[in-house]
This record gives sequence, C-alpha cells and structure tokens, in this order.
Amino acid sequence: MPVSGRRKSIAFFITLGACLVALATALNVGWILLSWREVALLVFGIIFFMLIIVGLVLNTTFLIREIRRNEQHDAFINAVTHELKTPLASIRLYLETLKKRETSEEQQQKFYDIMLADSDRLLQTVEQVLRAGSVGQPRRRLNRTIIDVGEMVGECIALAHTRYHLDPDAVVYTELLDGQPAHVKGDAEELRAAVLNLLDNAVKYSDKGVRLSVEVAALADKKVAVRVADSGVGIAQAQLNRIFKRFYRVPGRVMARVKGTGLGLFIVRSIVEKHGGKVFAESEGPGLGTTFTIQLPRV
Ligand code: ADP
Repeated sequence: MPVSGRRKSIAFFITLGACLVALATALNVGWILLSWREVALLVFGIIFFMLIIVGLVLNTTFLIREIRRNEQHDAFINAVTHELKTPLASIRLYLETLKKRETSEEQQQKFYDIMLADSDRLLQTVEQVLRAGSVGQPRRRLNRTIIDVGEMVGECIALAHTRYHLDPDAVVYTELLDGQPAHVKGDAEELRAAVLNLLDNAVKYSDKGVRLSVEVAALADKKVAVRVADSGVGIAQAQLNRIFKRFYRVPGRVMARVKGTGLGLFIVRSIVEKHGGKVFAESEGPGLGTTFTIQLPRV
C-alpha cells in the first residue's frame, strides 16, 4: 500500500479507537445516572466499563507501536537493499568495462581502487547487520583483555582517515589523562567497532566539511570518557535519546540524503552497556553539531 494510503488507514483506525473510548465513557456515565439507586449493579457496571476502556486504550497503544515498528522495518529493508545493491552494481559496471574495452594501465588502476572501495562499503554493511544481530544476544560472551583506550581511539582515527580520505587536519585528537593510564577491560574488537561507528557518523553527518574533535579523558570516578564532537547537521533535543533505538533514523531531509540503516548507534549502546558503561549524545540543535560521549569503567 502507498505511504499516503497507509497513513489514511492508520488515522482511521486511531480515530475509531478514540471514538470507541469516548462511546464507552458516555455509556458508563449514562449507566451511573440511570442506575445510581441499585448500588451493586452500579459498582459492577463501573468496574466492567473501566476494564473495557483500559483494554481499548492498551490495544490502541499496542497497535500504534506495532505500526511504527513496521514502518521502521520497511525503511531498514529499503536502506539495506540500497546499501547492498549500489556497490554491487558499481563493481559489475567496472568489471564489464574492463572485460569489453581496451583500458590503459592507469585507468585499470583507477577502476581497481573504485571496486576495492565499493567492496569495502559492501563488507561494512554486511558486518554492521551481523554485528547488530550478535550484540543483541544476551548470552554472547565477550573476549575481554586490557585495552589502552588512547591507543585504540588513535587506531580508529587513522582508519577513518584512510576510509574517508580526510584532510590531515580534519580530526583534532586530545588526551586529557593527567598522567593516569586510560585502561579498560573489554573486548577490543567490539569497543573499536563502537568508536568507529561514532567516527563514521561524525563524518557522514558533517555537511559543511569534516571538522572533528576527539578526546580521551580520565574522569574522577574511575572512569574514562571518549568524546567525538562534530560541527555537522546537529540533532534536535527531542531526538537525542531516540537515536539509540534499533532502526531509528531522524526523519527529514538529512535522512533522505545521507544513507544509513539505523543500526550504528544501537550497536554502540549495546556494546558500551555490555562493558558496564554508558553513551549519550549532546547537541545545541539542528545545524549546530553533535557530541557523543562514551563512558567506561577504568581498571
Ligand atoms: P544511520 O546513521 O545508519 O542512520 P545510526 O544508528 O548510526 O544510523 O544513527 C541514527 C540516527 O542518528 C541517524 O539516522 C542520524 O539521524 C542521527 N545521527 C547519528 N549520528 C549523528 C551525528 N554525528 N550528527 C547528527 N545526527 C546523527
């Protein structure tokens, strides 16, 4: 069903639910007025009508939640299909060109580089979907070792530089450690994935050139913080918590322009919470950049 048709039928059923609740309330009031002298009947009547109203409200709430979830699943399937199809189509096109036409050595090298970048993008999408599945499993065991957070963040920044061909001064990295070691106990691969997701987003949602500030700081209560700040599209106050939900993407023009699956921050939060930490976002509002902070217990 097209989106506008679906919206109309959703609006119809929500209105129907609201009308039913109003009708039940009117009946209840009528019942009280008519039978106020027969106390036992009145009491039972009120209780049953209350139960019906509560049931209707619960039912409508459940339906609305299911409809929203369904819409998010649809958007996710579309996004993943797009993310898988586009690089594959591109690789295929370059392979066909290489097969059919005479190409110079220089051109060939260029094509190989593009195909490699496309296959990286493909791999990233597949890894992201697999990781979203695995981090959601409560029984999955972590491969814990002692990790130097500063070193790990440095590696992630270097990877982001190569992945996105950033200017040498696009990322400013600062350590505020006061000579204290920033060691945490955790799964290196998972923590690296969390930090990389924040860096990927910071680059993706920077509309006026990438200018990032990354900080590793020792906090007073035996914690270490990793902050990733960008000067990009920013986030409205009301969305700051929702963005960590699975499949959730902030609606609007930016989402239509910047592709994504809505899994990244869900993965970040799942990983950080499994390590006994927390993650949160701060933004002055749309257009004013965003800062993400991960806090982890230090060892
Ligand atoms: P995706 O980026 O694939 O959409 P994420 O879970 O990584 O999914 O992010 C969820 C949403 O949060 C994004 O759709 C985007 O609207 C918002 N968001 C995430 N990071 C940033 C950022 N650095 N600046 C602005 N908005 C962001």
